[in-house]
Amino acid sequence: MTDRTINTNRAIDTSRTNDTNRTNDEVESRNPATGKVAFTSPATALADVGATVGRAHAAQEAWARRPIQDRQAVLRDFAGLVERDASRLAELIVAEMGKLHRDAVAEAAWTVTSARWYADHPPPVERRGGAVVRRRPLGVVAAITPWNVPLLTPAWKWLPALLAGNTVVWKPSELASGTAVAARELLREAGLPPGAMELVLGGPDRARALCADPRVASVHFTGSTAAGRAISQSLAGRFVPCALEMGGLNAALVFPDADLEHAADCIIAAGTAINGQKCTATRRVLVHEAAADALMDALATRIGGLTSGDPARPDVDLGPLVNPAAATRAERAVADAASCGARVVARSPSPSPADPAVAPEAFFPATLLTGLSPDEPLRRHELFAPVVSVETFPSADAAWPMANATPFGLSASVFTADPAIAAEAAEVLHTGVVAVNRRGDAVDLEAPFAGVKDSGNGHPEGGEYVYSSLTTLQAHYQDVPVPTR
Ligand code: NAD
Repeated sequence: MTDRTINTNRAIDTSRTNDTNRTNDEVESRNPATGKVAFTSPATALADVGATVGRAHAAQEAWARRPIQDRQAVLRDFAGLVERDASRLAELIVAEMGKLHRDAVAEAAWTVTSARWYADHPPPVERRGGAVVRRRPLGVVAAITPWNVPLLTPAWKWLPALLAGNTVVWKPSELASGTAVAARELLREAGLPPGAMELVLGGPDRARALCADPRVASVHFTGSTAAGRAISQSLAGRFVPCALEMGGLNAALVFPDADLEHAADCIIAAGTAINGQKCTATRRVLVHEAAADALMDALATRIGGLTSGDPARPDVDLGPLVNPAAATRAERAVADAASCGARVVARSPSPSPADPAVAPEAFFPATLLTGLSPDEPLRRHELFAPVVSVETFPSADAAWPMANATPFGLSASVFTADPAIAAEAAEVLHTGVVAVNRRGDAVDLEAPFAGVKDSGNGHPEGGEYVYSSLTTLQAHYQDVPVPTR
């Protein structure tokens, strides 16, 4: 009975991961694998945030009036420069936040692809009735971003924002500011004029000051649900639109007719991507009772076979979490779940003590759990770490409500050979992404990416969909021919 009382009050420690020894006046990134400082810079003084916005505001009209071809050329040149500097950028990303080197290389490559794609896809101009419908820039767009995908996630905001004629003030994560500084230098080298992209470096107080500036026309945020909620509340009274991409607690549903080996591959890949520090990471496995034992064995085997160590090494599958505090929090959450009845089925091996490049404090093993209590916090809160829990269901009718029973609605994956189940999944799952027989964390550039419930407020990123929150529509009626750009 006492345990039940403790259970109902339990919660995951979701305090921010960004708690290192920095002062408010500087930003500092530390390589979590080694503890070594990767980047430091003075933060933007709080008192200077207004002047920073002012520069972006002053530059906006001229930037928007430049021919679209000029703006496209900047994006294309930027793509070429990221391609040129891809290995330097990848090393910086690894050093700042501990991502696997191959994933950092892929992030740089995706940034190149995204810049070229957007250069080819400016905001569409359409004819509707007697009007030419144009998408006009909003003005100064604030981009507030996290550390886990420090180049590509911000680029998906500012590439289309700049192309549409907005200027941008970017507040990157205080844990990955070096990547932001490098990206901004490349944008300038690509010909972006002064003021078109301004940086505000520092923590949440700088983000709050940015949101409070009356010249900011729109806020584009990716990060935790708590921060997204705070930003949304701070803007509500001023009718400033915001696009929020937030956390996830993403389910994989496995039906008995599925290819279980393939399902296990996808679940472990999506559960341990960026070391479980990915918004779309698979965190909950719901498996039909008839397939549970076989799937559990397949998952446990894969977790046991993961290699942990220096993320710069090509043979490593799991690097560190972003900092030692994140590892301590994850360890505490697993211990807490275990003390309330959860069973730890498998954990990945620790990094070799012989690996000279590794300081162990930020390492946390990939963990497979089952038997979570009904009120287990891991069912309701996002733990940003490679922890995957397994539950069983007796039928599809029972599975769908289990999958939907979280505050989040970012992505889900479904493994089945039955096209009817695949079709039903798309109807009944309350998530922005539904992936059938593939990883739940994969997102295509041209498709919309928009979580529901506590994962997003309905403004998609991805492809041309993002223009809905970066532009305003203007119906242009005129009796003479109107140029379409
Ligand atoms: P975070 O919310 O702590 O920080 C994100 C950004 O917001 C940082 O720049 C930070 O300085 C700023 N910030 C933090 N608190 C703030 C506040 N109260 N007011 C204004 N700004 C604030 O998130 P994080 O630890 O950097 O990143 C991890 C989180 O991001 C996870 O929850 C993850 O799911 C989410 N995420 C979501 C997506 C998505 O597309 N849905 C993608 C990547 C990460």
